[in-house]
Amino acid sequence: NSWWSQVEMGPPDAILGVTEAFKRDTNPKKINLGVGAYRDDNGKPYLLPSVLKADEKLRAQKLDKEYAPIAGNPEFCKLAISLALGDNSEVISNGLNATVQSISGTGALRVGAAFLNNFFPGNKTVYLPKPTWGNHTPIFKHSGLNVGAYTFYEPQSCGFDFQGALNDISKIPEKSIILLHACAHNPTGVDPSPEQWKELSQVVKKRNLFPFFDMAYQGFASGDIDRDAQAVRLFLKDGHKMVLAQSFAKNMGLYGERAGAFSVIGDSKDEADRVMSQVKILIRAMYSNPPINGARIVATILSDPSLRADWLKEVKGMADRIIGVRTQLRENLKKEGSSKNWQHITDQIGMFCYTGMTPPQVEKLIKEHSVYLTKDGRISMAGVTSKNVEYLARAMHQVTK
Ligand code: PMP
Repeated sequence: NSWWSQVEMGPPDAILGVTEAFKRDTNPKKINLGVGAYRDDNGKPYLLPSVLKADEKLRAQKLDKEYAPIAGNPEFCKLAISLALGDNSEVISNGLNATVQSISGTGALRVGAAFLNNFFPGNKTVYLPKPTWGNHTPIFKHSGLNVGAYTFYEPQSCGFDFQGALNDISKIPEKSIILLHACAHNPTGVDPSPEQWKELSQVVKKRNLFPFFDMAYQGFASGDIDRDAQAVRLFLKDGHKMVLAQSFAKNMGLYGERAGAFSVIGDSKDEADRVMSQVKILIRAMYSNPPINGARIVATILSDPSLRADWLKEVKGMADRIIGVRTQLRENLKKEGSSKNWQHITDQIGMFCYTGMTPPQVEKLIKEHSVYLTKDGRISMAGVTSKNVEYLARAMHQVTK
């Protein structure tokens, strides 16, 4: 009898399972639309030229590999929060933010959850949009917080259920936490319009809710870093205090480098200093200090005007390719003779498209056409290229007609 005989086999990760099945398929036309990582028009991973240059610049400096401080690379932290809030942010000039480097966006969420679980003075429940990124619930539960939900997606239109969201949010118990995707909502690709964000901000305020912004796709959604940050900046302008998770996985293609940031934005510099001291104590116990290389790359790009300009073009290039391939998919579905309304494919934004295909249709798409995706009908637009879009449209039409 071993120590672990009572340990049962856990279920495989839903998304990694899609990739496993894809790998086993021998059909040369197979397409993997499960992965949440950008691919170029040849279906290949994309190393941003600005990242390569920054990497080379760093290598030439022969920097040592000593530990980063607990809160990470200080220059990186300053540059990251400036990217989110804008260069002229009064929050930053008044020292109201406590920002730490995190292990990408997931780590930012996890540190934030730990901080809220320890110090949030209100109702320790985070309300998540329905649906949300599959890792949100585990991250918050793992840290000890309770999880609730509010209406977000409307299946009929494959769009935002604005009225449903307003109704649900106005019933969330006061002084709870509400999680908001800053842009490019995962998994639906559905974002509120600027006018809708204004109203959401008012309802959140009226209910005295505390916003937790998850910004995993700044610049990657519209191609414009300021536009993608507008919800966060609007909420700050409206006087909300908040916490913010940032990731450089998508917008710099730094997935495995694990570069991210977590910020608490509060009332005063003194408060920010006290908060910072406690966040550092939590980080020390969780992983001591963050990895150094990704943050150095980000800081090098953001602080060098020429590299920064290159990066802005590259992130726009990624966003534009995705926006372009959305149009191509929609047009090809029409060409195939689909009478369904596929407008949501181009209305939605960011990495993912919630197609509205049902689980049986998804199963057919996988079995009969070797097109791999998650059961919820979500496709990663990053996996669609000018070369496979026709095949994909034909397959989608076959299973939905
Ligand atoms: N939040 C959302 C909504 C995401 O989609 C992702 C990436 N899939 C993340 C956070 C975090 O990703 P990472 O830890 O790779 O930065």
